[in-house]
Amino acid sequence: GQVGIAQIGVTGLAVMGRNLARNFARNGFTVAVHNRSWEKTASLVAEHGDEGTFVPSESVADFVASLERPRKVVVMVKAGAATDAVIDELVPFLEEGDIVVDAGNAHFPDTVRRENALRAQGLHFVGSGVSGGEEGALLGPSIMPGGTRESYASLGPILETIAAKVDGVPCCTYVGPDGAGHFVKMVHNGIEYADMQLIAEAYDLLKQGLGASAAEIGEIFAEWNTGDLESFLIEITADVLQHVDAATGSAFVDVVLDQAEQKGTGRWTVQNGLDLGVPITGIAEATFARALSGGVAQREAARGVLPAATTPWEVTDRDAFVEDVRLALYASKVVAYSQGFDQIAAASEQFGWDIDRGAMARIWRGGCIIRARFLNRITEAYERAPHLPLLLADEYFAGAVGNGVAAWRRIVAGAALHGVPTPAFSSSLAYYDGVRAERLPAALIQAQRDFFGAHTYRRTDRDGSFHTLWSGDR
Ligand code: NAP
Repeated sequence: GQVGIAQIGVTGLAVMGRNLARNFARNGFTVAVHNRSWEKTASLVAEHGDEGTFVPSESVADFVASLERPRKVVVMVKAGAATDAVIDELVPFLEEGDIVVDAGNAHFPDTVRRENALRAQGLHFVGSGVSGGEEGALLGPSIMPGGTRESYASLGPILETIAAKVDGVPCCTYVGPDGAGHFVKMVHNGIEYADMQLIAEAYDLLKQGLGASAAEIGEIFAEWNTGDLESFLIEITADVLQHVDAATGSAFVDVVLDQAEQKGTGRWTVQNGLDLGVPITGIAEATFARALSGGVAQREAARGVLPAATTPWEVTDRDAFVEDVRLALYASKVVAYSQGFDQIAAASEQFGWDIDRGAMARIWRGGCIIRARFLNRITEAYERAPHLPLLLADEYFAGAVGNGVAAWRRIVAGAALHGVPTPAFSSSLAYYDGVRAERLPAALIQAQRDFFGAHTYRRTDRDGSFHTLWSGDR
């Protein structure tokens, strides 16, 4: 075999790994390629060998030997046990200072565990989020690498070369130690859930409020994509809504079964939000909304049984309504992102990761699913105030959301009045009102807790913890 000539290696050549390997090769890197079963390696080289220099190997030993030192091996296999199996196969052939990159969708506690184990053996382990699906992997993904800063010094420039670019700036930066990269990718996916749910609610509001067709709503989304909402998800929504099903001639969206599925990153995000005590209501409602849609037995049981007690929504001023929905969508979206960035801040604090939130918004501007114009505004907000406690309270976002808050209330009230389910719109508004409240009913909860459990309470007028002897009042 060819020894020590490849600058980077990729093992795991299914859709993602294959495209990542091609991306490296197209950018001029000599790429060692390997897959558990030889066919995928052979077909990659046969079909795309002309795109650059690939060094294929059948065995792990040859694959590792074909890499220049310090070796950089990207593992792109099924997350979970497969990743552990591949790491276990690689490690005996690696030497001190070599770098193993897990570019799959690992759960961040697994990454923390693997980083610990490999560090003890003198190896660098880099858990890296990669977003953008197969197209991103080929043309430029958003890359979120964790691990040591030292590993980033040699690995970073290679990853930055293949990453998406926005205004010439790569959508890749060092995120933080051990699990930080996969954590940030997890929150990215959670925000993606919230974003998609909010868009779906906006679609439903337009459908039910205006009685508009999918194609008409698609045009509205296309129009929205020219303003503040400009983003990949709004753009594809416009396309999807205008797509006609070839078999029936109906609007495509009308022939798709209304049960959303999930692979689990939304669930991980929500579970972690609970662990850290961060209210990520937008992501949670989005995850639960998918679960509700898939609860076939429950929906069957409720249909025709639970009364609506509503009248149909008859919107008279179409343009004003569309603008209200747009403003409500934007405000709800800012809340969901603000909550997601709060979660990153809380984890960064808890795990000592020191994550730069503005830099995360910057590397999400391109390549990934949530890429959007407004991420620039988030980066700017954290540049103004790196330790901003609440993104929503940044001067720009407070202004933008404040500008739409009356519209937001009209939409959420209208939805409630006419029976349109808007869990993400309405919980985001409730969060907005909760976080800005002068005084919350949490005072009553503390009093109740002290009553039944002697949990004590603090007072508005004096320092210290207090307990009231309630029994006398009974
Ligand atoms: P995948 O279907 O998740 O995994 C298939 C690959 O894993 C194949 O190369 C397979 O090898 C290998 N594999 C499975 N079990 C193995 C084992 N025990 N030992 C060695 N190799 C094993 O592939 P994918 O869709 O390309 O995704 C790869 C990773 O990227 C996953 O972690 C995924 O979550 C993540 N990801 C995917 C996307 C996406 O849009 N698809 C986006 C971002 C991240 P064989 O060919 O020999 O079976």
